[in-house]
Amino acid sequence: MDAAREKSVIEATPKGLLIGGDWRDGDATFAVTDPATEQPLCEVANGTPADARAALDAAVAAQPAWAETAPRDRSEILRRAFERLNERADDLALLMTLEMGKPLAESKSEVTYAAEFFRWFAEEAVRIEGRWSRNPSGSGRLLTMRQPVGPCLLITPWNFPMAMGTRKLGPAIAAGCTMVVKPAQQTPLSMLMLAQILRDVGLPDGVLNVVTTTTASDVTGPLFDDARLRKVSFTGSTPVGKKLMEQASKHLLRVSMELGGNAPYLVFDDADLDAAVEQAVIAKMRNIGESCVAANRFHVHESLADEFGRRLAERLGAMKVGRGTDDGVQVGPLIDEDQRTKVAELVEDAVDHGAKVLTGGERVGDRGYFYAPTVLAGVTDEANLLREEIFGPVAPVKTFRTDEEAIAAANASEYGLVAYVFTNDLRRALHVAEALEVGMLGLNKGMVSNPAAPFGGVKESGFGREGGREGIEEYLAVKYVAVEA
Ligand code: NAP
Repeated sequence: MDAAREKSVIEATPKGLLIGGDWRDGDATFAVTDPATEQPLCEVANGTPADARAALDAAVAAQPAWAETAPRDRSEILRRAFERLNERADDLALLMTLEMGKPLAESKSEVTYAAEFFRWFAEEAVRIEGRWSRNPSGSGRLLTMRQPVGPCLLITPWNFPMAMGTRKLGPAIAAGCTMVVKPAQQTPLSMLMLAQILRDVGLPDGVLNVVTTTTASDVTGPLFDDARLRKVSFTGSTPVGKKLMEQASKHLLRVSMELGGNAPYLVFDDADLDAAVEQAVIAKMRNIGESCVAANRFHVHESLADEFGRRLAERLGAMKVGRGTDDGVQVGPLIDEDQRTKVAELVEDAVDHGAKVLTGGERVGDRGYFYAPTVLAGVTDEANLLREEIFGPVAPVKTFRTDEEAIAAANASEYGLVAYVFTNDLRRALHVAEALEVGMLGLNKGMVSNPAAPFGGVKESGFGREGGREGIEEYLAVKYVAVEA
């Protein structure tokens, strides 16, 4: 990869705080690191609580005019942003790979996915409707309308630095809400570039404010104390989500929580094994396994488990690990050393409890946070990785005998984000789909993410939906008017 191009993409990215339409320097800066080389890429502004307050002031000031802006105008801004993201997909993908590590082809898919949220919500912005109905008693009429909830705090994670942003920004813009966004400290550049693009396509000053920081709780804390903030939408880990829920109770904010997962991948004895293995590679290895919807544990019928494990190990063992910018690389580095250590410890623990390594099971190289794609067979109930989110390229395979055993194993988790089910028996598929405690299900399919569908979980995976018809509802409040007529 061309070092000069990498440099120019980094140089073209804003590094400041976006507040009220201006890019401001922070009092201090922090380094953004390339996880493949462990080398710094650049410095960005390290926002303070005072910066966050200024960002909320700007969002509050912009709110009335933005709510009044014609839906078609809001829609056109999103549509232009969709087009601009696609035009600039190569540069945006490179930027994302540099700060997050995923292979370029995957970064490009994420840019497309991220852009699609803008297109989808451009189409939704002009379809915010109400109702006019007759009172059942016959006297009077009922009028309902849907209005923007008001200024929002949007907090995003590092694993999908752009799509987790557009999935919130798209509906907020469409609904007429203003925003303060706090991206993850490991991957601020994608969000900063996104903000610049939205400015370029005409988003009015103050509608979107971005505060990058290394002190997330100090910086966002005061916003929860301010009654002018009306909503928080968070994507990240369940423990942080719980803390934010407590803070949100102070002024009873509207809350959307997209939290952790522990996706079961069920392969029944009548499944198409070729398809189950093919889709398992996607469900496990997309985003280096650092995805809330990554298949976290494979429950395979005992008649197929050996063959499934063998074939999956063959596929994962053949994947090319390396810097995401290099040709042919399919597996990039993990985000940092903490994440790699956590993955390595989960594998060691599973092996200590009897699992057998079919491929991988080790760190790769002496620079960058690489971990080999790993398949573990014969995983026992004691292994921690059946309960914890692995967030890495590790596939534990466990067997089951009966459907009820498979369903019970799948539901034995505090999480409930997504499950994957492989069977060709319609009756069984429908029974299992109804019995699983999840917000989403892939049926003979290893990927569910789609801007046109409602993404979200149940149990400790959170609540609220992003994308689909449901996505915009998170940013709208219903008002009812009783009409004497
Ligand atoms: P995280 O530690 O919870 O961080 C997520 C975001 O919250 C980051 O911007 C982080 O800032 C910020 N944050 C952390 N502590 C905070 C606090 N006390 N107050 C305010 N903000 C705070 O999660 P992560 O490790 O970045 O992301 C991985 C997790 O996200 C996984 O559990 C994954 O399953 C989940 N996830 C869920 C979905 C979904 O849609 N359900 C999608 C993607 C990821 P800093 O960067 O400064 O720490």
